[in-house]
Amino acid sequence: MTIAVSPDLSPALVLNADFRPLSYYPLSLWSWQDAIKAVFLDRVTILAEYERAVRSPTFSMRLPSVVCLKTYVKPARNPAFTRFNVFLRDKFQCQYCGSPHELTFDHVVPRSKGGLTTWENVVAACSPCNLKKGGLMPREAGMIPHQTPFQPTVHDLHNNGRLFPPNYLHQSWLDYLYWDSELDPE
Ligand SMILES: [Zn+2]
Repeated sequence: MTIAVSPDLSPALVLNADFRPLSYYPLSLWSWQDAIKAVFLDRVTILAEYERAVRSPTFSMRLPSVVCLKTYVKPARNPAFTRFNVFLRDKFQCQYCGSPHELTFDHVVPRSKGGLTTWENVVAACSPCNLKKGGLMPREAGMIPHQTPFQPTVHDLHNNGRLFPPNYLHQSWLDYLYWDSELDPE
């Protein structure tokens, strides 16, 4: 799973007031037009720039490559229960066979047996596994999810989102994307 980003559009990485990206997946990016608008509205501080500039007869400005919000946006404590966030929690992998293809979502306890559509009962599953499991309980089908489904925090989703960087990362973004990631002790 890769988000396509076109470097030709000179997108700006948008950071919260704590210098972390607003979102990792998809990565919080604005078009250069939106970034410049926000600069003029005094909503952001420019932290890094592209070589490329926009010019008019009276004005010239290098395009921002990293901007930071002046006002901290408090992230929602509990991420929305959406298909996308379920996939992100499960790292875009079928929880039965690990395939990243043809993802759907599966009720671990089938709906026909009273299973609910909740964080704790829904997992990412590929179509073949979903079909195979059908209306069976995990034990009957011999199909146990790799990870017991759970309600993730925003932090969990951010961490997973980092595993799926877009196809293009500007040099100036890298420090802000990885400075707060955990270091491997050597
Ligand atoms: Zn599968």
